[in-house]
Amino acid sequence: MGETHRSEAGVSTPATLTHYVNGKPLDATSGRYADVFNPATGAVAARVPLASVAEVDAAVAAAHAAFPAWSEMAPIKRARILFKFKDLLDQHHDELAELVTREHGKVFSDAKGEVMRGIEIVEFACGIPNLLKTDFTDQIGGGIDNWNLRQPLGVVAGVTPFNFPMMVPCWMFPIALACGNTFVLKPSERDPSASLRLAELLHEAGLPDGVFNVVHGDKVAVDALLAHPDIAALSFVGSTPIAEYIYTEGTKHGKRVQALGGAKNHLVVMPDADLDQAVDALIGAAYGSAGERCMAISVAVAVGHIADELIERLTPRVKSLNIGDGMNEATEMGPLVTAAHRAKVQGYIDAGVAAGAKLVVDGRGHEVPGRESGFFLGGTLFDDVKTDMSIYREEIFGPVLSVVRVPDFASAVELINGHEFANGVSCFTSDGGVARAFSRQIKVGMVGINVPIPVPMAWHSFGGWKRSLFGDHHAYGEEGVRFYTRYKSIMQRWPDSIAKGAEFTMPVAK
Ligand code: NAD
Repeated sequence: MGETHRSEAGVSTPATLTHYVNGKPLDATSGRYADVFNPATGAVAARVPLASVAEVDAAVAAAHAAFPAWSEMAPIKRARILFKFKDLLDQHHDELAELVTREHGKVFSDAKGEVMRGIEIVEFACGIPNLLKTDFTDQIGGGIDNWNLRQPLGVVAGVTPFNFPMMVPCWMFPIALACGNTFVLKPSERDPSASLRLAELLHEAGLPDGVFNVVHGDKVAVDALLAHPDIAALSFVGSTPIAEYIYTEGTKHGKRVQALGGAKNHLVVMPDADLDQAVDALIGAAYGSAGERCMAISVAVAVGHIADELIERLTPRVKSLNIGDGMNEATEMGPLVTAAHRAKVQGYIDAGVAAGAKLVVDGRGHEVPGRESGFFLGGTLFDDVKTDMSIYREEIFGPVLSVVRVPDFASAVELINGHEFANGVSCFTSDGGVARAFSRQIKVGMVGINVPIPVPMAWHSFGGWKRSLFGDHHAYGEEGVRFYTRYKSIMQRWPDSIAKGAEFTMPVAK
């Protein structure tokens, strides 16, 4: 990984990052770079190279060369390397979380939680010998046995977003590697350092060279991966327009693709909900990580008479959010990832006001003393949001919560089912019948009942419906094992059980 250098005058200059190919750092040659910021200070923390097609080719070639030996290694031996990797992740938990906070901005405790969710996928992948076990049928007829194999695909690629620089890559590569594939990761260029550290730790755990590679970049690198004939499959997580593009382009090139996209997650507050719980849930889920989570709640659906009291209780809580540098322990909400992203979120707030939504708490212009150049934005709360407004239809990805008022449960379900995004959803109620009806009727991939952010554990799988996911497989869990393997069915008979003479009829059990 690149290091921060101090000039003779003692002024630190940003580190220049490298790619990581074939078990070692690879200096960039493209000559193109992007700035990586510390969002809390606004300072440039590092320069990340943006790969050329030739650099992507080098990473794919390394992964391609490593595939035969890695895929032939016994799954239990691959698991042993992952066990060591998991141990190293535990040892470096705080260091990884700090890397995330310094480039993403989220608070350190939240970054530690992100690292933990990544570790959990590694723990799941350590069970690969059992996960690759398949069915066997003795004697399907005529001395023939039939069983299945799940074989690795080859070189697979991952393209990941800025908002979980540690966890989202871990949704992909531990399972892909455990299944016997080799991997090329193209992390977000906005917070790339965690991926490099993961590569180093995998190396330290004993992963053979070339099995895991990191290549930084932008559209040039992603397009090169999409078109590369030696990439068998690609996992993507990011915004919906890019997810759709990746899915279309990748499948056009004959690849298996899973592309997880954006979200607009609703939390329904029923009139019988425990309001203290619902308010706590909304504050954490809407403003945690400054709303930069694909599972963030960005719409509160207030059912019936609850709306006024909900707004009344939310308002002081949003106004008093402790906003600051994520490395300070007391901070509840950090900055947005870049100045450009903050400007985009502010643009949505302007649009909401112009469209006639009621701005109850305005986070624009929020300043943090001593951190005036940081990319901070205050928590923002809108009431009376209507379904034709851009703040309702589009993903804002910032600390902005919209309250939509509906008369009853059926209208809440209809509202949510009418939205193009369908990642996560939540319902707060004390009525078991309502909870059951909600879970069954709602057309969304992940559902929480009195749980604001229903992110499935490693051994379940993660994914939305509709325009929140393109492809047939959800991420990680058993869906991940299916995505990263090809199914083969084998029928076997030994010569002494072979009947004499050719058969011209459809084989049936004898
Ligand atoms: P993004 O779509 O801008 O970028 C994601 C990745 O795609 C990055 O690696 C980026 O370099 C690459 N990319 C960007 N533009 C590209 C282009 N034109 N062609 C090819 N590649 C391109 O997303 P982001 O801003 O980094 O992340 C935030 C988004 O990710 C939000 O929409 C959020 O909802 C979504 N997200 C979804 C999930 C999920 O599980 N559904 C999880 C996390 C984040």
